[in-house]
Amino acid sequence: MKTPVLFIVIPCYNEQEALPITAKRLTELTDDMLARGIIDPASRIVLVDDGSRDATWQVISDLHAADGRFEGVKLAHNAGHMNALWAGMTLSAERCDCVITIDADLQDDVNAMYGFLEEYGKGADVVAGVRASREKDTFFKRTTAQGFYKLMNKLGVEMVYNHADYRLLSKRALQALLSFGEVNMFLRGMVPMLGFKTAQVTYARGERVAGESKYPLKKMVAFAMEGITSLSNKPIRYVLLVGALCVLLGVVMAVYVIASLVRGHTVAGWASIMMSIWLLGGVQLMALGLIGEYIGKIYMETKRRPKFILEEHLK
Ligand code: UDP
Ligand code: MG
Repeated sequence: MKTPVLFIVIPCYNEQEALPITAKRLTELTDDMLARGIIDPASRIVLVDDGSRDATWQVISDLHAADGRFEGVKLAHNAGHMNALWAGMTLSAERCDCVITIDADLQDDVNAMYGFLEEYGKGADVVAGVRASREKDTFFKRTTAQGFYKLMNKLGVEMVYNHADYRLLSKRALQALLSFGEVNMFLRGMVPMLGFKTAQVTYARGERVAGESKYPLKKMVAFAMEGITSLSNKPIRYVLLVGALCVLLGVVMAVYVIASLVRGHTVAGWASIMMSIWLLGGVQLMALGLIGEYIGKIYMETKRRPKFILEEHLK
């Protein structure tokens, strides 16, 4: 196998403090990889400025001017973490053999990239970085994040536990991913849909090298909602289920109400109101769930996802 051209894609939002440190670490890392002949000299580090309001773009331009290994991509406004990654991957796809995405804050151990490349060399199309421990994360972040993975699994979304967006994708996996037409993106749920051979590399998660988290609680909740609603139709099913349960209860209530009526234990009007509340409520919920099923279908249609992903074609 030829030495791969590796593109490292990094989304950067207000990362002026972290970037110089990150860039230095990556320079050392790629120097070493080049010296050892693990990666091709055409390899690049793509820094995507996601509409930062600080001096991030200045830092990126300086890096690019000083070292041709660094490429800069500037998004016109803050498009969000996923979209920044998408932009970087789109602009790399043509020129690379494989791409690695990593956050700008180096919370994920860059040395795991050696493992990524090794797995890639052994034929993996997707290599997921998995956090061995989350001791360095706050208790709150750790519990909410892990709860989220469990919830997603319950909702039927295939996701690698404790894997964020630190991963390697081969060229064909990247191109397959980029053929997904959806605008609401949740990459860590989409990558497993590709179905390509996946390996995992475990590493210890560290602390942010500098600057502050760009994911305040509000963004975390939005991110989680995005993950659920863009990948799972199950919440709609639950509405249908609750509706059916209400109707069932309504029937039980009806028996009770009629029995009371016959025994003359009722106030005028009680029986009709009781029956309507349960039965109608249930029927309404079921109708909503049913309509939801169709909306869910429309939603999936609008994503224009590829119908199949080709792994090989012998001809
Ligand atoms: N990020 C981005 N756009 C945003 C928010 C974050 O590109 O709107 C980038 C950020 O610069 C970092 C990565 O996404 O490289 C992850 O953010 P952060 O490390 O702050 O998240 P945390 O690790 O706290 O979840
Ligand atoms: Mg971080």
